[in-house]
Amino acid sequence: MEINIKEIYEKYNALLKGHFLLSSGKHSQYYLQSARVLEYPEVAEKIAKALAKKIQSQIEVDTVCSPAIGGLLIGYELARALGVRFIFTERKNGKMELRRGFEVKPNERVLICEDIITTGGSAMEAAREIEKRGGKIVGFAAIANRGICPDKKECKLPKNLPLFTLGNFEFETYEPENCPLCKAGSTPIKPGSRGNQ
Ligand code: ZN
Repeated sequence: MEINIKEIYEKYNALLKGHFLLSSGKHSQYYLQSARVLEYPEVAEKIAKALAKKIQSQIEVDTVCSPAIGGLLIGYELARALGVRFIFTERKNGKMELRRGFEVKPNERVLICEDIITTGGSAMEAAREIEKRGGKIVGFAAIANRGICPDKKECKLPKNLPLFTLGNFEFETYEPENCPLCKAGSTPIKPGSRGNQ
C-alpha cells in the first residue's frame, strides 16, 4: 500500500505555516504537527502498517522504543503492526531516561521510532538509554524526515543503521541570527508549548 504522507499532513492540517522555534534551536516557516494526523487511530494504523511493511522486509525487530511524547502514538501503532512490544523513554530534568520499570534484555533488537526525524537528536538519546541496558539498536523509523537524515552532516544517526520513513519534508531552517522572519519583526513560537499549537 503506497501512501502519500504530504497529502495526509495537508489533509489533517498538520503542516503548519508561521514562525517556529524548532527543538534544534533553529527557526522555520513550517512545522509538522504529527499529533493532528495521529488523532485519528485509523490514519495512525494505516501509516504504521505502511512503515511496518518497509521494515519487515529489511530487519528483525523484538521491540519498538520511542522517545516521549512525540514518538508515543506512532511507536505504539508501529509495534502493533510489527507484532512486537512497545516501550518508551522520557525526559526527567532534561535527561532522557527509560523509567516505569521497562526492561531490556541483553541483545534485544530494538527499533527507535519517532514521529518526525530532524537531526535524530532525541532518537539517539533514546538509543543510548537502550544500549546502556544491553539492548541492540537495529534501526530507526519515523513517519517522515526533514531532509537532514541520513545524508547531511547535521544528522546524528549512525550511518551503519537503516532509517525507515514514508516521506521527506524538506524545509528551509535558519539560525536565529540569520532568520528572515525574525528580521521582518516577528517572534518565533515553540510548537507544542503552553498556549501554542
Ligand atoms: Zn526567526
